[in-house]
Amino acid sequence: MHDLHTHSNQSDGILSPVQLVSRAVERGVTCLALTDHDTLSGIAEAESEARRLGLQLIPGIEFSCLWQGVGVHVVGLNVDPEREALLAAVAGQTESRTTRAQMIGERLAKLGFVDAYAGATALAGGEVGRPHFARYLVEIGAVKDINAAFKQYLGAGKAGDVKQLWPEVGQAVSWILAGGGVPVLAHPDKYKMTRSKLLRLVKEFVEAGGQALEVVSGRQDPHLTATLAKLAQDAGLYASIGSDFHVPDQPWQELGAMGALPVSCRPVWQLWQ
Ligand code: MN
Ligand code: MN
Ligand code: MN
Repeated sequence: MHDLHTHSNQSDGILSPVQLVSRAVERGVTCLALTDHDTLSGIAEAESEARRLGLQLIPGIEFSCLWQGVGVHVVGLNVDPEREALLAAVAGQTESRTTRAQMIGERLAKLGFVDAYAGATALAGGEVGRPHFARYLVEIGAVKDINAAFKQYLGAGKAGDVKQLWPEVGQAVSWILAGGGVPVLAHPDKYKMTRSKLLRLVKEFVEAGGQALEVVSGRQDPHLTATLAKLAQDAGLYASIGSDFHVPDQPWQELGAMGALPVSCRPVWQLWQ
């Protein structure tokens, strides 16, 4: 079974790459892509554990980008984690994320949470993001849970909602192609776009060199799966499937716990088999 979209603690997941691989094996996954946000730092560790347990590990990444002002994610599958062009892109994204995390820390400090940046950094295995600030605020008892942290301090319009300069979709596609990988437009339904806007995004993604659409993302309505399968087919895109796993207590995003790709789809793994 394929699960081609997962996160470790090298971005905003909870498990280490080693723990992620072993959980994937327990859950019956035979081919796993580690696709941390804007980083390749967990790949080596995941690869060696995958070799030990006999699981096929696909090196991947999930780039945050912008398209017409909307935050859009492009996953790169089967990238070569040693390619210079890809490493340079990752370094740029890291710098951008660090600057943003420091700004969030400064804003929270002004609200009296003077150790927020240090606290969030301590909770992050790799790069620091809003979920780490949220966990820190829960830990010090400032809020009762993660949702409350976003609602009061980190969500849209709140002090910690610091916008970031993300690359355009076409730029992320180029980075992935330069890294020898397959660009996949991630979880199209999450953007909550109108159908015509989504069609425009898909068209531009294809023109930029995009090759696949994530037809299945976690547990989803079969009607949505059928709609996205058709969209992939019409656009001449391969189809990908992944849980978007972050933490073990969310059954709708559990490793390997998705429906299958419709038989009408061309699975993205045909590109590397
Ligand atoms: Mn995430
Ligand atoms: Mn995403
Ligand atoms: Mn993701």
